[in-house]
Amino acid sequence: MEQFREPEVLGADDMWHCNKCQQFCQATKTLDVWRLPRVLLVHLKRFRFSRTFREKLPTLVRFPTKDLDLRTMELCPSDAADPPIYDLVAISVRRSLSRSWFA
Ligand SMILES: [Zn+2]
Repeated sequence: MEQFREPEVLGADDMWHCNKCQQFCQATKTLDVWRLPRVLLVHLKRFRFSRTFREKLPTLVRFPTKDLDLRTMELCPSDAADPPIYDLVAISVRRSLSRSWFA
């Protein structure tokens, strides 16, 4: 979850156009969380893409089933009586029997 907030330097294919100097510049993208919802849905991107192929990542995902405490992620802290602490309710895993993951 902390990696979600780390700045990402955009590559040569994602140059940002500066309105002041009218140049394309390398930019940095950052995501912040203002306030977390009561129900949190997490979508893990489990694929690696290249120009010629895509593959599902084999990395094991460890995720707490109880008390995922995300209080430090909020820029504007929630009500202390209802902190953003989550229990895992369900997991959905997509599997495909064909070689094409998106069929
Ligand atoms: Zn500029």
